[in-house]
Amino acid sequence: MAFRPEFSWEFLSRDEITARSLRALRNHVKHLKEVSNYYREVLVDINPMDITSIEDFAKLPLTEKKALAEASEQFKAVSEDEISETVVTSGSTGKPVVFYMTSVDLDRLAFNEALSFHAAGVSSQDRAQIIVSLDRLFIAGMAYYRGLTTLGANTMRIGVLDFDMQKHYLELLKPTVLVGVPSFLKKLGERLSQTGFDTQKSSVEKLVCIGESIREESLELNAVGSGLADMFDAKVFSTYGITELSVAFCECVQQRGNHSHPELVYTEIVDEEGNPVPDGTPGELVGTPLGVEGMPLLRYRTGDITFKLPGTCSCGRNSDRIGPILTRKSQKIKLKGTTLYPLTLTNALDEMDCIEDYALLIDGGESQSDQVTLHVVTPPAMVESIAAHLRARARVSIPILVSNVPTINSYRGDSAKKLKIIDKRTPN
Ligand SMILES: [Zn+2]
Repeated sequence: MAFRPEFSWEFLSRDEITARSLRALRNHVKHLKEVSNYYREVLVDINPMDITSIEDFAKLPLTEKKALAEASEQFKAVSEDEISETVVTSGSTGKPVVFYMTSVDLDRLAFNEALSFHAAGVSSQDRAQIIVSLDRLFIAGMAYYRGLTTLGANTMRIGVLDFDMQKHYLELLKPTVLVGVPSFLKKLGERLSQTGFDTQKSSVEKLVCIGESIREESLELNAVGSGLADMFDAKVFSTYGITELSVAFCECVQQRGNHSHPELVYTEIVDEEGNPVPDGTPGELVGTPLGVEGMPLLRYRTGDITFKLPGTCSCGRNSDRIGPILTRKSQKIKLKGTTLYPLTLTNALDEMDCIEDYALLIDGGESQSDQVTLHVVTPPAMVESIAAHLRARARVSIPILVSNVPTINSYRGDSAKKLKIIDKRTPN
């Protein structure tokens, strides 16, 4: 499939995008009633022709992750012979969901990622190494691969290899772009430096960072993001993708929020009751993917808290932009009556070189306040500095306990991820 960025709606005016979105959403609801067992029931009283404004659309039912996980077959909208690929969500935030994709869905996914990389300035001139898993039924690596090849970049399926092999392929193939998880890229850079490899003089010009925030709420780079930029003397870009929506939101070269692709997804930010919040106000990201054949969804609650950037972007794209993911909805912390986002704490902690490892343990407390304790691997003499830093950067005082790596890992259980937040509250 040839990449035709001119097919994108991104450069149309806001009004034109809204008008097209409304028409697409109306058709989408009509389609759902025809092909989806789940939505045929949920939308039984809805007449698509009554949706005459975005406000009308915002009154339609939301789709919960739980409904999808428990009855995913009910969402399947095509017959077996139309399915080209199966992907499964990681299940790190609940029961894994099985997703069926048709060849049209795969082309749509490729177009989505090609648009994302294109916005970040990646082109057919680039040599791009994908250093995330390309198998294990994950959508991400496959999506990057399809997007980069569609864009015409020289694409290298490195996957997750040990450091020696990563170094070998970096030296042999001289990539200009690395696509990976920030904490892994950071470790890679550190290990490379230890072996005498000058990361600043490497061929790498861009790092496309997935899965973890590299920015503050203000969109400034956080410690991990700026550390990576310095380490590789490269530009770092954030991309956020979600399997259920089959889209990615990626930064453009202006790096003022992650652009959505309006022809592929309609994006909303809602409060706890599901009502829209103004631009700039944090709330839950809700997405309606457009043009999906296999498992189409309506107003899907991602569980991720972020905000829409007000105004338009100086890159000329007029699509919605979202900020960094501030937290999972379930991990929002109530502290003395106010809301605290874990990202604020982790960004502050990641800035401190004296911290070797840490985990924030969250437990339910009284009704208006959760209990947050920082377990940290650091020289005991540094505790007061960490407390002062948290007061200054996150405006909180929380108990700090000096710990060690095995103990913190025991809290993490058998999770392969180096979790920074360990939430022991009962999910509601
Ligand atoms: Zn832009």
